Amino acid sequence: MTDRVYNFSAGPAALPAHVLQQAADEMLNYKGTGMSVMELSHRSPAYDEIHTNAEKNLRELMQIPANYKILFLQGGASQQFAAVPLNLLNKSGKADYINTGAWSKKAAAQAKAYGDIRFTATSEEKNFTFIPVVEKQDFREDADYVHITTNNTIFGTVFNQLPDTGDIPLVADMSSNILSEPIDVSKFGIIYAGAQKNIGPAGLTVVIVREDLIGQARPETPIMLNYKTQADADSLYNTPPTYAIYMAGLVFADLLKKGGLEKVGEINRRKAAALYDYIDASDFYSSPVNPEDRSLMNVPFVLADAELDKAFLTEAEANGLVNLKGHRSVGGMRASIYNAMPEEGVAKLVDFMKEFAAKHTA
Ligand SMILES: *Cc1c(COP(=O)(O)O)cnc(C)c1O
Repeated sequence: MTDRVYNFSAGPAALPAHVLQQAADEMLNYKGTGMSVMELSHRSPAYDEIHTNAEKNLRELMQIPANYKILFLQGGASQQFAAVPLNLLNKSGKADYINTGAWSKKAAAQAKAYGDIRFTATSEEKNFTFIPVVEKQDFREDADYVHITTNNTIFGTVFNQLPDTGDIPLVADMSSNILSEPIDVSKFGIIYAGAQKNIGPAGLTVVIVREDLIGQARPETPIMLNYKTQADADSLYNTPPTYAIYMAGLVFADLLKKGGLEKVGEINRRKAAALYDYIDASDFYSSPVNPEDRSLMNVPFVLADAELDKAFLTEAEANGLVNLKGHRSVGGMRASIYNAMPEEGVAKLVDFMKEFAAKHTA
């Protein structure tokens, strides 16, 4: 495995090499079944064990209370942009969104098809470089839910403090920071996440939903998008993304073995600090993000001289550091350092950045 690179992609993102190796070892003959997991019936005992264990391990990892269902769905986080309003916009038909970037905007744009959607706050005027402060009284009292994007994958910001929504259910798109550190699930009505950042392969979407929010979907809700359908069938109403669930299960078990999210969070803090500390100390690189709101997972940074961007990317790649190009709406670079990025990978990136800066400083 010496030819593996350090992959800083925002998603689909790196997976732990030893997890991929385990999947490779089990590829042709999964536990004596004589088949690959991909070939197993989703109604077979062997698959049932995979499905049940993945759910059990995720519950343990995130300490998900008993009154929450875990759903393993398809359609990506983007499909939840519709599923959330279809399932929850059922009383006043109003929902309040906090606009912290492109994903929040897309979520709100989709919800507008179903009701009265309002941005309670936005950080757009400063290109989403901060998280707006919102008070409880800023939300409409009769809103059916409040929606946030906990970690903003493109802009590199994170909610370090959740807004107080009182009794209004808080819905979170947690695609890019789920499992990055411990969180209190009981503060949320719904958490959803596409798997391809911090969980496993693309094709799986994890939804964690409080039971009292299930069963009141709007009449036009497609059967497949109704949380009740999926909860009643334990996510086996139709064929689930079995292989992606298997891979996610391997990742969950691996994180538990590592010591759980407490430990994972410590490592992620060290990784992020190593990168931010160097960026802040340097004149060659800078972070556009408000220091208090910086993401542990996605670290955008810009070079003082944008003319050097191309050379930076080419030389980084030659050093086995790939997918560092920033999103076009921010420019510069972005290092996504999800759980599967080892501390050595971040150390190698910082070393490379130092060398590159030294070489290009007259
Ligand atoms: C990647 C991402 C999405 C889109 O996920 P899909 O699974 O591709 O639909 C949505 N929200 C956030 C925060 C993301 O990082």
